[in-house]
Amino acid sequence: MIYLDNAATTRIDDDVLAEMTPFLKENFGNPQSQHSYGRAVANAVTAARDKIAELLSCRSEEIYFVSGGTEAGNTALKGVCAERGKGHLIVSAIEHPALLESAEDMQKHGFEATFLNPDGNGRISPESVAAAIRKDTVFCAVMAANNETGVIQPVEEIGGICRARGVFYYADCVQSACTRALPVEYCDALGFSAHKFYGPKGAGALYVKSGSKISRLISGGRQEHGLRGGTVNTAAVIGLAKAFELACRERESAAAYLSGLRDKFVSRVLSEIDGTHINGGGHILPSHANISFDGCEGENILFYLDLNGIAVSTGSACSAGAVTPSRALMAAGLSESRAKSAVRFTFGKYNNFEEVDKTVEVLKRAVAAIRNK
Ligand code: PLP
Repeated sequence: MIYLDNAATTRIDDDVLAEMTPFLKENFGNPQSQHSYGRAVANAVTAARDKIAELLSCRSEEIYFVSGGTEAGNTALKGVCAERGKGHLIVSAIEHPALLESAEDMQKHGFEATFLNPDGNGRISPESVAAAIRKDTVFCAVMAANNETGVIQPVEEIGGICRARGVFYYADCVQSACTRALPVEYCDALGFSAHKFYGPKGAGALYVKSGSKISRLISGGRQEHGLRGGTVNTAAVIGLAKAFELACRERESAAAYLSGLRDKFVSRVLSEIDGTHINGGGHILPSHANISFDGCEGENILFYLDLNGIAVSTGSACSAGAVTPSRALMAAGLSESRAKSAVRFTFGKYNNFEEVDKTVEVLKRAVAAIRNK
């Protein structure tokens, strides 16, 4: 099996699993409990929070454990809306549904929203953010890098504009956390998710700059500094901290290794298969390659590769038998047929060059077979 869908999720690292396992077995206490079982786990949760804060160069009180990128984005957007009561939101049209649909939810509660389209390269320009800000703008979300194309967004400039204009800025760092430093100093909040960098599923962190006004979404106990009630998923939190530590430590070597795999793959595909086009331009994460194949539907390529033991994805959604092209690719101005013919290949640390070559060979057969149908 060749797994080239690392943007969807990654296989857990053995060292991460080893660190988590005791917290699923003998260290089972509730960190809220007063007795020694609870205190031992509470200390480990505190250490995990401190470790993440140190890696981000922020304060431990600014880190909230959440279930992942979806909850981080929902909490930031809806938490600011709940605090402010009314106003205008700016959300890039290429955000993950966690942000897009949260903004749509808030529109039903009287908030107004502007969905900003990217340029043809899939990049949101800082100028378009500046132009969209109104007197009543309370929140802006532009992700650090897009999940489908891997296009890196100008978060530093956008963060600077938002700060100067008093707009709360959230940067979704779910895709970029593995290979890029997180832009803590440029945003009011950011989120990332352990399962994208060899950690467990259902574990993520939300950083919120101290002094920011944000309401809780989950009422209950006083966990997570009162922002999110509910018993902490201790094993997941321990795994998140370990996975993030490894990701930060290995970031540069991982980026170099992944870009080597990806660049070889892309150059072989573009030179050996006619009618292929890279989607997204400018700076792209080293892990991502989004390629359209003329005359093919991405889904058909996906199924052909799957039958041959290769896992990839398309940004298209299939509902009621009809394929809807990716929202992010359409927002970048791609034609419907090009968006529908897109396939996303995302590389991870367990991939190797042999797999790149094998995938190109199978891909050539897939495209030929589909075009000749
Ligand atoms: N944001 C981005 C950019 C993502 O790619 C994803 C997942 O693919 C999410 C948010 C959601 O993260 P999670 O699966 O941890 O909820």
